[in-house]
Amino acid sequence: MVERIRIGYANCYLLSGDRGSVLIDTCNYKDGPKILKRIKDRNVKLILLTHGHFDHVSSAKYLSERLNVPIAINEKDVPIIGNGEKSVLHGTTLLGRFFSACSMPVLKRSTYSFFEPDILLEDGQDLSQYGVKARVIALPGHTKGSVGVLTDDGEIIVGDAMFNIFRPTVARIFEEEKPMLKSVETIRSSGAKIIYVGHGRPIKNI
Ligand SMILES: [Zn+2]
Repeated sequence: MVERIRIGYANCYLLSGDRGSVLIDTCNYKDGPKILKRIKDRNVKLILLTHGHFDHVSSAKYLSERLNVPIAINEKDVPIIGNGEKSVLHGTTLLGRFFSACSMPVLKRSTYSFFEPDILLEDGQDLSQYGVKARVIALPGHTKGSVGVLTDDGEIIVGDAMFNIFRPTVARIFEEEKPMLKSVETIRSSGAKIIYVGHGRPIKNI
């Protein structure tokens, strides 16, 4: 089961199974206590980060320390944790260019606390040891190390590999365009019925 935890403009998700749950993304730094309140009695076994941007990773350290659970991210996004300026984002549409112009200064300014991840995620990695029937799926493009989580129940949590601001779209801003477009195809053909995104409401995959 996927629960959307919406805080301001960002979403994180609690994916729960029979034997535990996984927190996917952690929103901004100030959001840690709010998220903790929602998930502290939910047998969380892992914090999984879809990518390294500050609005997804900033409460990871806070929550990891309080829940005593490991943090997982793809190796390729480790360099951008706490180093927002290392993620150079492009946009091709008018709105994409606007988002990119707005987000780059924010990424550069962001000095969110660095942490060393405990687990490096790989494409196809099985998450059953954390109590959920799901696996990791590589979705590069928005950032080089972006990943999603595909559940056996036909849900996919994709971070910023797709957006749903005003309407469902490909990632409005990205490090690399071609892989990003391919990742959207991967999501669309994954067999998932619902797509959960980092910003905006869930998307029906039809
Ligand atoms: Zn992002």
